[in-house]
Amino acid sequence: MIIQLEKNISRQAKINILDLLAEKQLKTKEVATQVSIYLVSIGMINFDIREIGNMDGVKDIHKVDDNYKLVSSKWKVKPTKVVLDKDVYVGSNGFSIMAGPCSVENENQVHQMVDFLKENDIKIMRGGVFKPRSSPYSFRGVGIEGLKMFYGICNAHGIKIITEVMEPEQIDLMYDYIDIFQVGARNSQNFNLLDALGKVDKPVMIKRGLSGTIDELLYSAEYVFSGGNEKIILCERGIRTYEKAYRNTFDINAVPVLKEKSHLPVIIDPSHGTGARHLIEPVALAGIMAGADGAIVEIHKQPEKAMSDGQQSLDFYEAKILFERMRKTYSFNKRLSAN
Ligand code: PEP
Ligand code: MN
Repeated sequence: MIIQLEKNISRQAKINILDLLAEKQLKTKEVATQVSIYLVSIGMINFDIREIGNMDGVKDIHKVDDNYKLVSSKWKVKPTKVVLDKDVYVGSNGFSIMAGPCSVENENQVHQMVDFLKENDIKIMRGGVFKPRSSPYSFRGVGIEGLKMFYGICNAHGIKIITEVMEPEQIDLMYDYIDIFQVGARNSQNFNLLDALGKVDKPVMIKRGLSGTIDELLYSAEYVFSGGNEKIILCERGIRTYEKAYRNTFDINAVPVLKEKSHLPVIIDPSHGTGARHLIEPVALAGIMAGADGAIVEIHKQPEKAMSDGQQSLDFYEAKILFERMRKTYSFNKRLSAN
């Protein structure tokens, strides 16, 4: 059960509610986010919840039988809009494209990418500076100095950035140079990192784990929300299966399932979801038809020279075509569902 409290609730009113919940054998956690105050109560609800709903200081009350609570669509029917700026947001309405290289490499690359993104009306650039690599001998990223350069150039051109944070200690270092924190697939269940991201007031995009279930992704989001941060974006990026024909199996089913289970925006990552350049477009368009709110795509001016993930990066020509087709598909799907 989720009880949303009035922001100005008195101490006594809150004590009265907590006492009644305890009397009813419910275990309750108070969650104060940047937006609201909630009481999340776990246990057997065999009474009329209006008994609590009518108490002083209660704004709203919902019975949520999902195991995750605050990220569930059962209490918040309206989709969440994660706002980055007055005309830059993710979710709710409109299709968000995040594009850029797998790894930030150098200043020249960022400048060329920013020009390309602006030409194509893309407002969010992706680029890793701390790279989780399967082999310790692979390129590990340009680090914090590279992030400052990346953010500086993008910020000067009005482009927002998303980049991966790998450990709680990096959050403070990165905070002034980031617009969206990305939690990578390998860190999807790093609960210390998720707890720490609950304390920040910038958006967090959580990728599904390599072998993570949909519920596990939602639990990870619940960590961030219950830590205090409501600005969460979910990302389906493919899972590991027995199939060897491609790097990962993009789970198309996850898109409508996540949209149904949660009020949070859902982004698709067809680059990591397939691992192969020629599969990105068909899978991206399918993901849009399945209801995605946006896509994150790896692009590189010269994919064959990319420091990482060149095999799944589109060149500028291919990317331009993809952006057009994704936007057309999104509009087509909107028209279809309006009828
Ligand atoms: C990435 O976005 O570059 C990345 C490493 O993604 P994932 O965590 O999905 O593998
Ligand atoms: Mn990558």
